[in-house]
Amino acid sequence: MVRIDRQEEGEARAEKVAHLARRYGRIRQEIARLKAMDEALADAPDGQISLTDPDARAMATSARHSGMVGYNVQSVVDTETHIIVTHEVTNQGFDRDQLSPMSIAAKDALGRNDLHAIADKGYFSGPEILACHEAGITTTVPRPATSGNAAKGMYLKADFTYDAGRDVYVCPAGEDLTYRYTTEERGVQLRRYWINACQTCPLQSKCTTGTERRITRWEHEQLVDDMGNRLGRDPDAMTLRRCTVEHPFGTIKAWMGHTHFLTRRLKNVRSEMALNVLAYNIKRMVALIGIRRLMQVIPG
Ligand code: SF4
Repeated sequence: MVRIDRQEEGEARAEKVAHLARRYGRIRQEIARLKAMDEALADAPDGQISLTDPDARAMATSARHSGMVGYNVQSVVDTETHIIVTHEVTNQGFDRDQLSPMSIAAKDALGRNDLHAIADKGYFSGPEILACHEAGITTTVPRPATSGNAAKGMYLKADFTYDAGRDVYVCPAGEDLTYRYTTEERGVQLRRYWINACQTCPLQSKCTTGTERRITRWEHEQLVDDMGNRLGRDPDAMTLRRCTVEHPFGTIKAWMGHTHFLTRRLKNVRSEMALNVLAYNIKRMVALIGIRRLMQVIPG
């Protein structure tokens, strides 16, 4: 009996050792896999790797920390007909660089000499607005509030009025902030304005925590001022944008069952989206002019 017990004890120990050896091997494999992934991540130009679809990327969405990984579908939609004039699929997680490529593509597709592009604040970019202007495209894009001054109840740049004739900013105290010097940041020329009277100003606590309030003006800021004026004259512009662009997106998303793309890789997702857009535009045109007229105008 004693011999049998010892034998069983020895077998159990051997089994335990074998089990631990297997676990140790799996842990070593996992460490090697994670190390390889860490190296691949370090080599990835944008610091991202998607294990589901190598081309998909993290998207900046309005929902913070949403962790949305996928593709960025851009579209330009005609406000009158709701036809998708042009579209693109990218794996760039933000819209900031898309205003001029999409607007110029839409202008080319329509064969127009002029175009008014309305976009949301995610598209606000000085160089992009300038590129549109140079291409003969009027843009209306709200400027995002990046300063924390509003939350602190302090004066915003909008509280300073630019006087183009005198090239000064008139501050809330009615003083002139004069031009001082120009700097270049990331290829953009920025003009700086200030006044030396801030330290004795009764409004200083609402204006600046420094010795003086400085205002920066982009060399082409007139374009931004013009956009602000357009938005002031037409406060419904952003509602028009939302209603226009969400009609086709909502329709296509409903067709897709509010789920993800069926294909993977950027090339395939582009094809999938192009088919969706084509189907949407055909159905839209049938609704607008009827199938008989549509068949007449499609080149044979
Ligand atoms: S602190 Fe300076 S810039 Fe601000 S309101 Fe007073 S004088 Fe004008």
